[in-house]
Amino acid sequence: MKYRSTRDTSLSPVMTESSAAIKKGLAPDSGLYVPEEIPQLSEKDLEALTGMDYPERAAYILSLFLTDYDGDFLRKACREAYSVESFGKYAAPVKKVKDGLYSLELWHGPTCAFKDMALQIMPRLLSEALRMTGEKNLTRILVATSGDTGKAALEGYRDIEGTDIMVFYPKDGVSKMQERQMATQEGNNVAVYSVYGNFDDVQTKLKEIFSDKGLADRAKENGILFSSANSINWGRLVPQVVYYISAYCDLVASGDIVMGDKINVCVPTGNFGNIFAGYIARRMGLPVKRFICASNSNNVLTDFINNGVYDKRREFYKTMSPSMDILVSSNLERLLFMIGGSDMTADLMKQLSENGIYKIDGETHAKIKEMFSGYCLAEDETAATIKKIFGECGYLTDTHTAVGVGCALKYISDTDDRTAMVVASTASPYKFPMDVGNSIGMNMEKDDPEYLLRSLSEYTGTPIPRPLERTLELPVRFTASVRKEELDGIVTKR
Ligand SMILES: *Cc1c(COP(=O)(O)O)cnc(C)c1O
Repeated sequence: MKYRSTRDTSLSPVMTESSAAIKKGLAPDSGLYVPEEIPQLSEKDLEALTGMDYPERAAYILSLFLTDYDGDFLRKACREAYSVESFGKYAAPVKKVKDGLYSLELWHGPTCAFKDMALQIMPRLLSEALRMTGEKNLTRILVATSGDTGKAALEGYRDIEGTDIMVFYPKDGVSKMQERQMATQEGNNVAVYSVYGNFDDVQTKLKEIFSDKGLADRAKENGILFSSANSINWGRLVPQVVYYISAYCDLVASGDIVMGDKINVCVPTGNFGNIFAGYIARRMGLPVKRFICASNSNNVLTDFINNGVYDKRREFYKTMSPSMDILVSSNLERLLFMIGGSDMTADLMKQLSENGIYKIDGETHAKIKEMFSGYCLAEDETAATIKKIFGECGYLTDTHTAVGVGCALKYISDTDDRTAMVVASTASPYKFPMDVGNSIGMNMEKDDPEYLLRSLSEYTGTPIPRPLERTLELPVRFTASVRKEELDGIVTKR
């Protein structure tokens, strides 16, 4: 299986092996890598997968896409990535919230958010790609984070051969809990710095570093190659296909659906990566009727799905579901390519970068509307959903998952579609204890990790996830605050 760029408009596009696509991340023309075809799953395949555990399911699906990787390597990597120590007994369990409504819990990994599902395996895929391509340099992962991605990347890359990782976050721009999670990071190839300034300052500085040819040369003299842990990398996307298929198998195994039944899937969306992985699963033959794309007040995708116009020229809101506070959903480019091809995609992306807006044609829009519904939730609706679902069903959701659940309920009440609905649950409620607590009527104001975790647990009678409890106990390792002018020196030093 080969990969090509979404923006390659030539008659015979450049084809790349999956290992090279994972190593490069972005295609040379700034497009995203997509597989030349989508492997198909028959009902028999789904039956076979139903009999497997999560690591086996993951290895099976990955091997269909990553054909240049050795099968034994993939099985071992999946076994290690989705181990009981890292994820508990079930890596991605499906919980019944109420009749017809299920929560696919993607937060049982080491940082209690769904990015672990990809970031526990992606570094292993990259490390193997480096080995396969005979790379001699140290690959240095540079990450700018407003909180959650940084920690998930640190856990993913810790002690991964051939790599080290440096994470930069805005000083005073993350919660105390997030800061503590990063400051206590274990591993021999990790470093964490807080940078004076806000998130935009940090991100802009890192973008400059990535495009600075002189700096790259300086790093190379020290045997260092810069790389990012960006969510547009195919190696981050493909592991996410697995849990949609896995959830379907689990629903069949539990008797909640019968093999062949359709399900609906609702995904709280930011960069469009998670929901796009679901779309790939559907293209492989998974019986999904419809995707509900759930957004917070930054509802650029809701408008796009409803009107066929993507317009990023709008006010940016800071919400209590910060991982969805995004105005440019990069992975949407892959969907556009798969529906309309590279000529259309290259043209639309050019319009987006030049004008901040594009409109798709009627036929493309009709195809998207056939499969996707767009819904969004205001902040007070998100809080009300957390309260309602906890009160009525005894199920505590985080702020992102609540956007998903609230949008799923809106869809169901609008359409009366009673197809089993699976909502992707993207973070543990304990990742956002203050907003979750206050939504269910607590009065939490103190931004202190220990106080927040213990109060939420006492009030709700639910356990604090072990990895978060552990960060209260681990020693703080990283306390350096740096000015952004210092970053050039830091990132090039061996
Ligand atoms: C990253 C993230 C999302 C958004 O996922 P995308 O793949 O960017 O659409 C939703 N919820 C949480 C908790 C996240 O960390």
